[in-house]
Amino acid sequence: MTGRWAPSPTGEFHLGNLRTGLLAWLFARSRQANFLWRFEDLDGAVRPEFYDLQLRDFQSIGLDWDGPVVRQSERLKLYKDALEELKRRGLTYRCWCTRREILEATAAPHAQLPEGAYSGTCRKLTAKQISDHERSGRNPALRLVTEGQTVQLQDRQLGAFSGAVDDFVLCRGDSTPSYNLVVVIDDAEMGVTEVVRGDDLLPSTPRQVYLSELLGIQSPTYAHVPLVLNESGNRLAKRDGAVTLSDRLMLGESELDVLNHLLSSLAIPNIGSFQELHEVVQDFEPRNLPTSAWVFDL
Ligand code: GLU
Repeated sequence: MTGRWAPSPTGEFHLGNLRTGLLAWLFARSRQANFLWRFEDLDGAVRPEFYDLQLRDFQSIGLDWDGPVVRQSERLKLYKDALEELKRRGLTYRCWCTRREILEATAAPHAQLPEGAYSGTCRKLTAKQISDHERSGRNPALRLVTEGQTVQLQDRQLGAFSGAVDDFVLCRGDSTPSYNLVVVIDDAEMGVTEVVRGDDLLPSTPRQVYLSELLGIQSPTYAHVPLVLNESGNRLAKRDGAVTLSDRLMLGESELDVLNHLLSSLAIPNIGSFQELHEVVQDFEPRNLPTSAWVFDL
């Protein structure tokens, strides 16, 4: 068994990120599984200082990982090969739609499609339209050809989930491979068998399962966990106040206090020292985790 944590180095972690990371770590370590770290750093908002800061914060609250840290930015060849394979199999097409056009032409209402699902406009272009687009000089995105298939999956925390798959982006117009492509390739290549992550990613999971099947990859199991909310019920963000580890330390809390705060939010008893984390791991039982979002009270 192998678990992983795949943050984007686009900022300092807040307690919500650390709590999801702690959960991914607990799921893996409680079954003596490997636990890998992958930086999802293909995003334009990545900043170099956050790689080390994120690793340090994770370690400061007593957590660890195995093996070398993986960076997606160093693995572009892997993604390119997968794209070439899909192209060769005739499973891709070019799309020149702008974000606005996509929103305006939202796919026909379909309860099971993810928000912002693509309606397939560029799949039906005439030769003339294609050559006009080519002359425009704008670089097209590459999309996957799908038939609105419905994918069912069994989430360890949330139970059965079913969702339809749209013609999602595989590679953006600026040549960056998309999240939904790289997550599938990376988890397979790294031997990840269990994905634990925030439940905001659940609607995209059918896309990933579908792509795995196309590529002959066995999907990992999934456990989606609730995000942390602020007092107004929105996803916790840095602007909400003292929400990063360094903010909490400035307030006079210790790293152990912060870990205990996170453990309390998971209905796990507090510990007196980091050495006791191994007991937390031994007693960890996903069935006992709270099923609703944690509202962070500042
Ligand atoms: N990089 C994503 C994030 O930071 C996580 C993606 C995943 O776990 O699949 O939210």
